[in-house]
Amino acid sequence: MTAPGPRFDLPETDAFTRPYWDAAAAGHLLVRRCRAAGCGRAHHYPREFCPYCWSEDVAWERASGHGTLYTWSVVHRNDLPPFGARVPYVAAVVDLAEGPRVMTEVVGCDGAALRVGMPVTVAFREAVEGVVVPVFRPRGAGEEGR
Ligand SMILES: [Zn+2]
Repeated sequence: MTAPGPRFDLPETDAFTRPYWDAAAAGHLLVRRCRAAGCGRAHHYPREFCPYCWSEDVAWERASGHGTLYTWSVVHRNDLPPFGARVPYVAAVVDLAEGPRVMTEVVGCDGAALRVGMPVTVAFREAVEGVVVPVFRPRGAGEEGR
């Protein structure tokens, strides 16, 4: 049952970002990678052109889902629904293995256990039926290099 009223955690999808959300629903994280000679950098959030060299020769690529924690903040108050029901939660910035630095949330972990540079791996949260949002969780022992 979804609570009535506005909520502020749902993505705005359009034809351009549809592959990203479809992949998330299937359990995959996508990034965009430039295919221009001499560049080849990945970026996120998705843009139609490369933010480094402005090439339009950019394609979707499945990311490893691995990254490291760059910084975070434990949020204790957020009046925008549905975040108020979710506090405290960990708003975080993660460096993906592919290079991009992404705003996200770390789940499954007490804020006190977080460390700069700790390995994290993507997880997927269904915000509402059919809408799946990538988040991250600490990467457990035995998951290294997977
Ligand atoms: Zn480029």
